[in-house]
Amino acid sequence: MQLRVPGPTPCPDEVLQSMTKQMINHRGKEFAELIRRVTDKLKVVFQTKEDVLMLGASGTGGLEAAIVNTLSPGDKVLSVSCGVFGERFANIAEQYGAEVKRIQVEWGKAVDPQQVRDALKADPGISTVLVTHNETSTGITNDLSSISAAVKEFDKLLLVDCISGLGSINLPVDEWNCDVVVAGSQKGWMAPPGITMVSVNQRGWEAVSKAKMPRFYFDFTRAKNFMEKGQTPWTPTITTIYALDVGLSLMEKEGPKNIFARHARIGKITREGVKSLGLSLFADEAFASNTVTAVNVPQGVDGKKLNEVLRDEYGIVIAGGQQTLAGKIFRIGHLGWVTEADIEEVLSALKNALPSVGFRNI
Ligand SMILES: *Cc1c(COP(=O)(O)O)cnc(C)c1O
Repeated sequence: MQLRVPGPTPCPDEVLQSMTKQMINHRGKEFAELIRRVTDKLKVVFQTKEDVLMLGASGTGGLEAAIVNTLSPGDKVLSVSCGVFGERFANIAEQYGAEVKRIQVEWGKAVDPQQVRDALKADPGISTVLVTHNETSTGITNDLSSISAAVKEFDKLLLVDCISGLGSINLPVDEWNCDVVVAGSQKGWMAPPGITMVSVNQRGWEAVSKAKMPRFYFDFTRAKNFMEKGQTPWTPTITTIYALDVGLSLMEKEGPKNIFARHARIGKITREGVKSLGLSLFADEAFASNTVTAVNVPQGVDGKKLNEVLRDEYGIVIAGGQQTLAGKIFRIGHLGWVTEADIEEVLSALKNALPSVGFRNI
């Protein structure tokens, strides 16, 4: 089977092997060395000199952590959302009592930084901006550097969901002034689910010191204090950390620049490939994501059936659309451990499968 959903992603053999290792004492020297080594390698990919914390959770846990550690009930927050994951981030903030103002961008389109600027100008009471860098539900990569510049013109706190982008596309966290950035081990890191990695800069820590939302398991301050001792507050997902350690070493060997270039190349091959089959892209191509491609299900084709045929007859697992996009699009994940040959295989399977599910290329 070739797993081509936008997370979880396949793990190379070395990574799988690392997960057969025996458990270690999470209060011992060996674990301290492991967590320090992994954190140092994470900082290289995050392009940050600030703190990177590892919490035991999937990506959504990291989003929740970002919210509860930096905000207080009643805080006014601007959510800039262009898909399912942007909405999720806003909903978490709302659930914990923030007053959320929404800029809702049509799905398939990117966020316009000018709209962010206008919204911040119109309401000086907003303290914080939530944004999704790479919107996995629609296959869009937002212009985060321009959005961040707009947010920083007004000196607001910026929380970023880059769960499906970090490690695969360029996000220089310090250079782009992103205060809190959330990533997830099962996306671009060649590792299994289980850890959310979160960077917090000085501005982020200032917000943490004032934030009053309830938190316990995901408390950043506790995580930082324990990290200084080479520990986590609670029993860590040791096996996922073994895997991440090896995944990060492979990334170090390839080098971040080469990784970003590989994703850019593969993103382009995927888009060109589906278009050459007579299909159309769902998202605005000027902002097309290099980690996930969303494709319109053509008229007369049953999207669910297409995914079934690809899985059962070709051994390729792709994703459908989420929420209102169910049945309307399908999505090909190409992040983490992925090569040109993998995508050629997906394209060739699509070419063969499409006619059997009613596609007529005219
Ligand atoms: C995968 C993903 C998440 C988190 O999902 P989990 O299932 O909790 O890991 C959040 N945001 C984006 C953009 C994602 O791609």
